[in-house]
Order: sequence, then structure tokens, then C-alpha cells
Amino acid sequence: MGLIVQKFGGSSVADAAKIKSAASKAIKAKLEGHQVVMVVSAMGDTTDDLIDLAHQITPHPPKREMDQLLSTGEQQAIALMAMAIHAAGHGSISFTGGQVGLMTDSVHTKARIKSIDAARIRDRLAAGDIVIVAGFQGVDADANITTLGRGGSDTTAVALAAVLKADVCEIWKDVDGVYTADPRIVKDARKVERITYEEMLELASLGAGVLHSRSLEFAKKYSVLLHVRNSAHDRAGTIIGPEVKAMEDIVVSGATLKKDMHKVTIQAVPDKPGVAARIFGAIADAHIVVDDIIQNVSFLDNGGYFTDMSFTVDKTDLHEVRRIADKLWRELGGQGFKDSPVSRVSVVGVGMRSHTGVAGTMFKALSEAGVNIQAISTSEIKISVIVTPEHGETALRAVHSAFKLHEEPVIESGAAAVAAV
Ligand code: ASP
Ligand code: MG
Repeated sequence: MGLIVQKFGGSSVADAAKIKSAASKAIKAKLEGHQVVMVVSAMGDTTDDLIDLAHQITPHPPKREMDQLLSTGEQQAIALMAMAIHAAGHGSISFTGGQVGLMTDSVHTKARIKSIDAARIRDRLAAGDIVIVAGFQGVDADANITTLGRGGSDTTAVALAAVLKADVCEIWKDVDGVYTADPRIVKDARKVERITYEEMLELASLGAGVLHSRSLEFAKKYSVLLHVRNSAHDRAGTIIGPEVKAMEDIVVSGATLKKDMHKVTIQAVPDKPGVAARIFGAIADAHIVVDDIIQNVSFLDNGGYFTDMSFTVDKTDLHEVRRIADKLWRELGGQGFKDSPVSRVSVVGVGMRSHTGVAGTMFKALSEAGVNIQAISTSEIKISVIVTPEHGETALRAVHSAFKLHEEPVIESGAAAVAAV
């Protein structure tokens, strides 16, 4: 007997029938002898609809009130889930984030979890209930409701799994697991059996929309075993866990395409110490995440050196970034700023640490597909290129096939280790 956290995403609780079906999965786990905590997202497109509604009132709603509004989506879903479990003859109780002491900082719409008081959950589990917790939300020290950022229910689930020392955190979704690439774009993309936290963290930050990045950081830090699986059936999905030796043989595990990004360039700022610190300090102060940074070649003008400073940001942050960039170029004595939409194509794999030639293979595939590369960035386990949005999908397909990601990987050193999860 163990403790299982089951998280159901919006599409897995989109209507009454799906709520009942999710309830039956929790009941099944309970009947198998486990304690079960469910974490539930808002039904279907509720969050999008609420955002839409807010924007019909005002283009820039106060973030505190956004959180107040968006948290209601999850609150509906947990109550309905508790009713479904009751109706099936089992004990259950639903809690909002605040009701289980899920404390966050006060950064509305992007809050981070600070602590969880699991006592109330443990009590109800001990009493035999299936406990249902609202995903995506918490409260700050002043009892304001906060939310954790889009997709944040994953983070709630993993944080609870960590605090409760769950045996596994099941993430029930409308997909079979983690794929080598988005199957809507790459027709022969393959579901992977197992992938490491690190690879998944890279994939998530690079645009694979399977899991919220913060949830993976928690999972890695507290070694929470994740199982991403499809709520439409009972077949196993993808295990996300620590690295096992055999995984080094897989050079590239997955490829991603991130759309809806913008490249922002602050033009002709003085090339001297402190300029980058000013630019990225100002952006960090606004809690905006910068992905790629490109400092262009500097040029001599009027006796001094100048450079263009480019970086990429999420389209959702563009409004604020434009405001900041417009202030920055003036303050720094630059010439202006410009921005253009871009996409990023990346390949990820822990095997890159011990294999060479990955960048060469990727660039060759892109050149054969006629894709121009605007910028390149790398880490120990990933290579990313920035391309124009029109080239994004072509580029993704090209790299997917160059690394033969459609084929089952050949594992030389101990396939048993992978199978033994
Ligand atoms: N309902 C929120 C969203 O749609 C949180 C979540 O689904 O995880 O972003
Ligand atoms: Mg949702």
C-alpha cells in the first residue's frame, strides 16, 4: 500500500462524464489499497474563457483580481470531483489551495510555492477519504489568492507528492505520454518509455507543453517519480525519473519547436561593462524570463564601440518588454529597439554529454532543408536554433528525422535497466 497523487488536467475533467471517469480512476487506486490525493485543473477551457472575459472588461486587468478570478475554475472542478466520488459511494473531501495551507509568494499570476501544511490532508487520508486539492492556486502571507502560472496544477501535484512522500505522481492527460516531438507536427513521432528529469526540464522550457517546468524542478529536487499517462485508457505512459546508466546511449531523446516567441534587439548601445547587467537586470525585475541572449559583433562609431543586444522572450511578455526596451535604449544611449517573431527548434538528450557530432548533424539537416539559422545556443544536454516562424515546422521535421527519433533507440549497455522501472 502506498500513496499516490493523481493529477487530472483540464481536458481530463472537461465535462461531467470525464469527471466521473477521473473519479473512477482514483477509486480504483484506493480499492487497490492506496491512499489517493487528486489534484484537479479547471474544466476544459475554463481558464482561457475566464481570461477572455477579463479582457472584455479591460485590456490590462489587475493581476490580483486575475488570480481571484482564475482560481474559481479549479474550485468548481474540485467540488464536482468530490461529488462524483461521493456519488460512487466513497469518502472524499475537496480543498482549495488556501485550505491546505499552500503558501506562495505574492507575485500574482506567477506565484511560487513557499510551503504546504500537509496535516489536514494527512488527517483526511487517515480517515479513509480521497482528498481532492485545487491545482494552480495558493495564498500569500496576506491571504490573497495567488496562481502559479498557466499549467501550474502540475506544480501543485508534484509539490504535494514531495511533501507527502508519495510513491508516484500520476499526471493524467489527453496524450499517451512524452513524445520524441509534437505528433501533430511530426507524424512519425514516438512515445518514449522513460526520460530523465533533466531532459524533461529542457524539453519543457523549450516548448514541449507536456508539463509545467516548475513541476519538474520540484520532481527532480525531491526525486518524485512522475508517470504521464492518458486518461482515455489504462495503458502505461512515460516515466520521468532519475537517469539510469543505459540512457547515455540515447544521444537525442526529443526535439521541440517553440512558437510564439519574439526576438527583441536593443540597437547600438555602448559596448562597455555594465550594459548587459542593466538590460537584463531591468527585465528580471519585471519577472520576465529571457531565453536566448545574443550580443552581436560590436562596431566603432563616433570614436566608441557599440553593439546590438538581442534576446528572446515569450510573446505573452512582449507588451511589458517593449515598454522596458523603450526606456532602456534611451537610458543607455542606444539607437532604438526592434522586435520580430521567431521560433526555436531544439534537440535534447543526456547522451550528448558523452557523444560528439550532434551539432554538426543538426546543422547539416537544417541546411539540407533550406532553413536559415539566426542564432544558436547550447547547454550540456541541448542544442537550440532560432529560426523564422515560417521555417519552424520544417526545421523540426528535419532534425527529428536526422536523429532517427522515429526509431526505437538501440541500447547497448543494459536495456534491462530501462525496462526495470
Ligand atoms: N487551469 C490552469 C490553466 O489552464 C492551470 C492548469 O490547468 O494547470 O493554465
Ligand atoms: Mg487548464
